[in-house]
Amino acid sequence: MSEIKVLDHGYLKMVESWGRGEAGETEAAIIEAARQSTQGSFRGWEQDAKLLRFMFTNKHLTPFEFCGMTIEIQAPIFVFREWHRHRTQSYNEMSARYAPLPDLNYLPNTNRVLLTQDKNKQAQGVTGSKRLTEHIADDWLENIAEFYQRAEDLYQYGLSRGIPKELARVVLPVGRYSRMRASANLRNWLSFLTLRMDPNAQWEIRQYANAVGEIVAQEFPRTWALFREAA
Ligand SMILES: Cc1cc2nc3c(=O)[nH]c(=O)nc-3n(C[C@H](O)[C@H](O)[C@H](O)COP(=O)(O)OP(=O)(O)OC[C@H]3O[C@@H](n4cnc5c(N)ncnc54)[C@H](O)[C@@H]3O)c2cc1C
Repeated sequence: MSEIKVLDHGYLKMVESWGRGEAGETEAAIIEAARQSTQGSFRGWEQDAKLLRFMFTNKHLTPFEFCGMTIEIQAPIFVFREWHRHRTQSYNEMSARYAPLPDLNYLPNTNRVLLTQDKNKQAQGVTGSKRLTEHIADDWLENIAEFYQRAEDLYQYGLSRGIPKELARVVLPVGRYSRMRASANLRNWLSFLTLRMDPNAQWEIRQYANAVGEIVAQEFPRTWALFREAA
């Protein structure tokens, strides 16, 4: 699968997925895990689609832990701070102690800045979203573009003067892009999507969650259909 572009410089791509079981069929590992109780095996989807539905709708979810996937993500640091709250995923992130972070910063567009969601209090401006104009948004965006440049100059200045990478990075803002791998089983990915595709989640992480959803839909189409049906 190729990279899915997210935000202005981000992406998400699948590294690996698993769960074909002994039968070698997409998602068959779920059925095989469930049939362990009776020492049975996968019988083909004509018969087993019904069992998959039964388990999903009745929340017999442990068999869904026998599928999973690892993805690589490039996202702003503030998105990773939200993402890392999902403690039951496994992570490994590039380290700015060892390699300078790429000079990529998230600059939202004007529409994103003006986007407000009536029911999502965290998406409102402090003085009320109605007072935020396009002019103010553009002015703010110009300012942060300059600020990003200033932060990058200071970062490079530190590195060029021999300041250790682990200290030179202290000037980098949370809009800076970083890169990580995240791995989890399918049940866990669905819990993540329930929380992060929700309109209450911040718009930026929602774009990443939607991209994770695209990959889940491709790799685990039967479970994805049940998940969407239940949403
Ligand atoms: C819209 C939104 C707004 C948020 N706002 C804030 C905020 O303002 N401030 C903030 O700090 N966080 C906030 N969060 C983060 C949120 O509180 C959770 O930390 C995050 O969603 C991860 O969920 P989780 O704990 O279910 O995931 P995981 O950490 O992956 O855990 C998965 C499940 O494992 C179990 N589990 C894991 N660890 C433990 C444990 N130590 N004890 C018992 N059970 C455990 C729980 O059943 C848990 O649901 C927000 C999240 C969302 C989606």
